[in-house]
Amino acid sequence: MISIILPIYNEQDGLASFMRSLESELTKLKEDVEVIFINDGSTDDSLVLVKNYCDSNNRYKYLDLSRNFGHQIAVTAGIDHALGDKIVLMDADGQDPPSVIPEMLAKMEEGYDVVYAKRIKRQEESLLKKMTASFFYKLLNKITSIEIPVDTGDFRIMNRKIVEGLKKMPEKQRYLRGQIAWLGYKQTSVSYERHGRNAGTTGYTYRKMIHLALDAITSFSNLPLRLATISGFVCALIGFLLILYTLYSRFILQVYEPGWSSLMITIVFLGGIQLMGIGIIGEYISRINDNVKNRPLYLIAETNITLNA
Ligand code: UDP
Ligand code: MG
Repeated sequence: MISIILPIYNEQDGLASFMRSLESELTKLKEDVEVIFINDGSTDDSLVLVKNYCDSNNRYKYLDLSRNFGHQIAVTAGIDHALGDKIVLMDADGQDPPSVIPEMLAKMEEGYDVVYAKRIKRQEESLLKKMTASFFYKLLNKITSIEIPVDTGDFRIMNRKIVEGLKKMPEKQRYLRGQIAWLGYKQTSVSYERHGRNAGTTGYTYRKMIHLALDAITSFSNLPLRLATISGFVCALIGFLLILYTLYSRFILQVYEPGWSSLMITIVFLGGIQLMGIGIIGEYISRINDNVKNRPLYLIAETNITLNA
């Protein structure tokens, strides 16, 4: 069976046309299919629409999260409840075309554990989004030791082996693309053109994107911490040289001014570096804190899946 995971956040206007294209694709498949909608605290009528779909088809299931937990956690909730031996992650806004699914399935038949969809073209997304995304992926690739594929979102198909691997990663900061890359096994890609949204606006605000980016970096790289250390050493070295120079000008050259500007520069510079270092450490500590608190990743308000917990 194939499980299709659909996170839903305020998608009432585009859902119907997406579901039409998805269903027409699913009927062509020979495998059994289940669809899992995860309503991630939508404030519009998405949940009503989702429940209608579930009433019309007993292969359709839904999880209604107790509030908006964010895309990565919504997808995680879906993965946790999927029963299929192949699992598809995709957006429900029409940006990930269902017509790519058969292609991904065919690739999987060749013996791959993960087939992710690589975007060769992005339509109708703001230049700023494309530029920040491309900068971020380049940076991430430079500073992490694992190879996280560029130009890919979460649109992909994976098998049970990967899902079981993911379940062994209980971290609270979810960056599924990175986690799946970290798991290894055999992974490959197919290319597709990313469409614009069917309707509505993106649920990924810049705030959420920065959050995701920081989660990705702190989860997969310790380089920022090392940078703080290195800049500390560099400053200490500069400071030491300054001491030598001060002594030299005081006792050998005998020329010394009440050095207001050099003092100010040093204080501001060192203060800045120290705050930066503390900030970086803080980013990591806050994430350690989240993991130590060990709160559940998400809570389910309502579902038509029988839960065994
Ligand atoms: N989404 C979600 N929770 C959120 C934001 C988004 O479940 O807090 C869902 C959304 O409904 C869509 C998918 O995640 O199915 C991708 O989100 P979106 O299209 O807003 O992101 P973008 O494509 O702009 O990166
Ligand atoms: Mg989208």
